[in-house]
Amino acid sequence: EKPASRNFIQQQIDADLKAGGGVRVHTRFPPEPNGYLHIGHAKSICLNSGLASEYAELAQGRFNLRFDDTNPAKEEQEYVDAIMDDVRWLGADWQDRLFYTSDYFETLYGWAVALIEAGHAYVCDLTAEEMREHRGTLTEPGKESPFRTRTAAESAKLFQEMREGKHPDGAMTLRAKIDMASPNINLRDPVMYRIKHAHHQRSGDAWSIYPSYDWAHGQSDAIEGITYSICTLEFNNHRPLYDWFLDRLAELELLPKGRPRQIEFARLNLTYTVMSKRKLLQLVQEKHVAGWDDPRMPTIRGLRRRGYTGESIRAFCERIGVAKQNSMIDLVWLEDALREELNESAPRRMAVLRPLKVTLTGPGGAALEAPGGVVKECKLANHPQKPELGERTIVLGTELYVEADDFMEDAPGKFFRLKPGGAVRLRGAGVVVCDEVIKDATGAVVELRCSFDPDTNAKPTGKKVKGTIHWVPAGTAVDAEVRLYDHLFRVENPDKAEEGKTFLDHLNPDSLETLTAKVEPALADAEPGERLQFERLGYFYVDPKDSAPGAPVFNRAVTLRDTWGK
Ligand code: ATP
Ligand code: MG
Ligand code: MG
Repeated sequence: EKPASRNFIQQQIDADLKAGGGVRVHTRFPPEPNGYLHIGHAKSICLNSGLASEYAELAQGRFNLRFDDTNPAKEEQEYVDAIMDDVRWLGADWQDRLFYTSDYFETLYGWAVALIEAGHAYVCDLTAEEMREHRGTLTEPGKESPFRTRTAAESAKLFQEMREGKHPDGAMTLRAKIDMASPNINLRDPVMYRIKHAHHQRSGDAWSIYPSYDWAHGQSDAIEGITYSICTLEFNNHRPLYDWFLDRLAELELLPKGRPRQIEFARLNLTYTVMSKRKLLQLVQEKHVAGWDDPRMPTIRGLRRRGYTGESIRAFCERIGVAKQNSMIDLVWLEDALREELNESAPRRMAVLRPLKVTLTGPGGAALEAPGGVVKECKLANHPQKPELGERTIVLGTELYVEADDFMEDAPGKFFRLKPGGAVRLRGAGVVVCDEVIKDATGAVVELRCSFDPDTNAKPTGKKVKGTIHWVPAGTAVDAEVRLYDHLFRVENPDKAEEGKTFLDHLNPDSLETLTAKVEPALADAEPGERLQFERLGYFYVDPKDSAPGAPVFNRAVTLRDTWGK
């Protein structure tokens, strides 16, 4: 495990505090409501809200949730609601600081007019295609637009008309007047506004122009008094533009509060999954998964439905730290965070995924005494380290189920489970010896006859019994649907470019296995949303959508150990 150390952003803030000057720590999480959040967003949420909490006392730490809702074509209220729910579930608290970029449209418009009047922006009639041709390349400077020399008065009039909806989509844009020869292409007169006659989920039909990310983002930060605007590395060479806009507005004395600063960190990439909203949407739309909350998805919705907790996701984000260079994080880190938490908290139960029937006899094959069908009342602790979680009674009768793969006919010496003549301990019940193997006409093993001595917990073969297996009583076990998951993709990096292939070609066809298991009687009453350990099988979550009273459905959240490699 990595040593806990101060990440580079904390170090930066500490240095700023040391330098003095009334430093405040005000961060934000700025999702675009065009899809559901994924684990990468969780990383940003934990980082931003975590800094605000950490510096709450020391530097008036504050955290805003801001919907970056500047692209009405792709955004929906459904996403806004789901994002709020997921952020809250993760434990990040924006209190009363919920904002929408669309609430700043009027302010942003006014500032854009001021930039036009100061000669820093102009209306340009080039089409998107022509603009691309003028932009130049990394090695070649761009060409200036013929509309660049338009008077401020003419641009101001046209910009007003753009707002009033007098021009069709794409007819003109508002561009910042910076430098078409800049080595940084982001500074080659970037677009500030586009015409879009589209209905916006909040502002309705009030606007027919919408601001670009670069124009809206830094200014929204400034309006809210954000001090540390933390974003992912792709925005590194947008930073000069972020600063350019703020510098011009500062010169015009338009900035109401202090200046925000952009800091970039490495986005989270996880093995065996994809993280872009566009690709996740494609998985949903093309029905490769059952929906945004499919437990195989890296979405917060999916992880919730899988059985993850907010706490385990926060622990994961804390452990992987904050990097300045992009890398791929092993999924095992995420799984381990959940295992560790559930190992502490989850009550233990027994379930048999692939049942094999066992009939018990007394020692030496004699009939077994079972008054009222009861061979033994077995008391099992609900948690090996937590007596306060109590115990439960499972009644062992003469018939039970064990896991089919806990029996092997031609077993190697090191197989310490059931084999002909071998002894094994049934968890909480006692030792059985496998006396007889019963097969059907095809030669398949359908039942075992095992002898059991209820009076002793002794070692009937005279040898030490090395194996302990789980079991359920046949008469009272309950049938329950159990879902086992494997990686959604077969390769570590499905995004890696490969000739003639897309990420979809790497989908794992066996990522979901649905079984009807036999579970111990107490599990019939498992509550939707409960998390349990099935002994030797993993941690399971009672599916909140598909479970019905008395008929729980169990999703395996994670195995007990990392077994993917096997
Ligand atoms: P995607 O590319 O997956 O669609 P996005 O960056 O377009 O994501 P936004 O809703 O704009 O999605 O992101 C909100 C915030 O989450 C941004 O500040 C962004 O930097 C951050 N974020 C998005 N993906 C990741 C990631 N994989 N790791 C860390 N932060 C991320
Ligand atoms: Mg974005
Ligand atoms: Mg994106």
